[in-house]
Amino acid sequence: MKIKVVESVMKANDAVAEANRRRMRAAGVLAVNIMSAPGSGKTTLLEKTIPALAPLRSAVLVGDLQTSRDAERLGGLAAQTTQINTGRGCHLSAPQVAAGLDSLDLGQVDLLFIENVGNMVCPAAVDLGEHRRVVLLSVPEGDDKVAKYPTLFQPADAILLTKMDLAELLGFDRRRIDDDLAAINTSAVRIELSPRTGLGMDLWLQWLRQEHSRYGTAAG
Ligand code: MG
Ligand code: ZN
Repeated sequence: MKIKVVESVMKANDAVAEANRRRMRAAGVLAVNIMSAPGSGKTTLLEKTIPALAPLRSAVLVGDLQTSRDAERLGGLAAQTTQINTGRGCHLSAPQVAAGLDSLDLGQVDLLFIENVGNMVCPAAVDLGEHRRVVLLSVPEGDDKVAKYPTLFQPADAILLTKMDLAELLGFDRRRIDDDLAAINTSAVRIELSPRTGLGMDLWLQWLRQEHSRYGTAAG
């Protein structure tokens, strides 16, 4: 019985996710779901990314259990920003994103960043209606995380190794990441980033612009 309940909740979520996807598609909005552990630099990355993407117009839905601190950090960037507090919830759900979309003027948006709740487990299993999935892994978390959290990395379209300026100091082995990804995901773009020093930001911005322009011309 319990399994049936869980299945029907997931089905309800997925129906809303499909509606979110169609709604954003109709508005010409490319939605990017950003996932990682807490503290890997999602908000910092968005702070550097959004101004650099202009004239593309960004909006952000930020998921956190409590506080509106991340939305406040992003609110000064001339991007429409909405904070979603999940209370005890450890991931965003499609209905929460649908409510977030109601708060945005989608006609004025080219790219929507959905900053998921910091968590490496369940966000990967919950479709929000996004068009692209981006996963951050920061160097201090360790080079064993791809092998430990394959469900997060397997469906990613882009994998960003962040805080790479600390790699030498912390003995982070990039080859270990590549070896582990070879078994589960060989199609994702991989970018070494340091928003602090600017390393890799050009590649990241180029990927976003390219995905946006491809999406604008694609039928699906
Ligand atoms: Mg954040
Ligand atoms: Zn969760």
